[in-house]
Amino acid sequence: MSNHHIAVAIDGPAASGKSTVAKRLAKQLGLIMVNTGAMYRAVAWATIQKGVDPSDTAAVVAMLSSVEFRCGVTEMLSTVLVDGADPGEELRQDAVNGRVSKVAAIPEVRALLVKMQRDYLELGSVVMEGRDIGSVVFPDTPFKMYIDASESVRRMRRAAEGIIDDPTARDKEDSERKSSPLVIAEGAVVIDSSELTIEEVVEQAVGVLAERGAPQEILDRVR
Ligand code: C5P
Repeated sequence: MSNHHIAVAIDGPAASGKSTVAKRLAKQLGLIMVNTGAMYRAVAWATIQKGVDPSDTAAVVAMLSSVEFRCGVTEMLSTVLVDGADPGEELRQDAVNGRVSKVAAIPEVRALLVKMQRDYLELGSVVMEGRDIGSVVFPDTPFKMYIDASESVRRMRRAAEGIIDDPTARDKEDSERKSSPLVIAEGAVVIDSSELTIEEVVEQAVGVLAERGAPQEILDRVR
């Protein structure tokens, strides 16, 4: 790792509970929480704004040089601005769900966002959640987890959130793509959250950090 900051990598399929767990964990440990899905969603959102076909790789790549994506942090949570505008809740809309895996499969999109994701470590220690954090973004971190849940539990969680989304269709695209597919990273601890409460998953995650030698100063923040 480039400095004394640590990266906690949390990967997993859609609706596995990884975002909720990553948020809680970051809050308890006083670390910056980085939601990388929001960055891919911001690129998908931009294609809608600009009328770009997400399956037209050349057009999406051209868009990357004409639109500014800027990542930051507000109150310890990652933010992303598109040409200075905050897409907010629109990142979770149907149209974005439908095209995000297409733009996420484009190597140039990934290269741009992975660089911004790595840059977060300059600001402080992070809990970063996504699909390729342990495998590609921070392959050298010892703090890697893969949060899973059964398909039926994941569908139920999405329905309970009132979100129209087909997580399994996105997972299929995310797992089958050539560029940084969703995989269990080497050395990642797999936590199946199907039968666990959020608190139990967070507790297990803290256990993994302790076992793998996270700085005591960070572990001491857990009350
Ligand atoms: O995590 P979330 O469901 O918001 O991610 C939306 C989409 O962004 C995923 O389905 C995937 O296509 C893409 N993604 C990715 N790599 C990441 C995070 C998200 O490809 N690290």
